[in-house]
Amino acid sequence: MIVDEFYRIGADAIHEHDFNRSFTVTSVVPSWSGPVVQWRPIKGKRLAPDPEFDHLRPAAVLDALARTLAHRWASGRPLCPLDWKQRLTSGMPQLFPFEPEVGNGWIWLIASAANHLSAVNTCNDMRTHDLKDKYGTLRWDIASVEFHQEVEEYTSCVDRLSGYICEDCGAPGAIQSLRGWDRCVCSRHAVPSIR
Ligand SMILES: [Zn+2]
Repeated sequence: MIVDEFYRIGADAIHEHDFNRSFTVTSVVPSWSGPVVQWRPIKGKRLAPDPEFDHLRPAAVLDALARTLAHRWASGRPLCPLDWKQRLTSGMPQLFPFEPEVGNGWIWLIASAANHLSAVNTCNDMRTHDLKDKYGTLRWDIASVEFHQEVEEYTSCVDRLSGYICEDCGAPGAIQSLRGWDRCVCSRHAVPSIR
């Protein structure tokens, strides 16, 4: 399951066709934060990213996805605590001064990013300025006294990945538009179109 999710979400998020991927999964290794998908580029397959189209490094997007899925599959199957938003605000009140207004399926995306950024940054001045769903994807703005390139890139990766992760359950998804309202949903949570 975790490998299948990595391939599906990963290929979509870096804009590749699933049948012609530039990366392959080599193993899944246990870690304190959950099972981590290890991947490597396939020789000769990697295309130079078009800076006009895609400013994000594909490797950064895939690494963020590996962290997200480790968190999602940490207990053997995806579990979403009902009070996850309160846990974020009480556990990291500086970073989350308010509860995010997003669906439960993005818990692993947000929580793993928060853990990662808190661990790798010596700064403790990060504060979420905005965290919401807009046009079907997550928009996360973190304000800080100093500019942190890593925070900027990581939140962009999170925003990108959210367009391919169901906002309701965290499974691979796609943005669906219904009556002008865009949401990223999996096939199980897609609303049948009204004819
Ligand atoms: Zn779903």
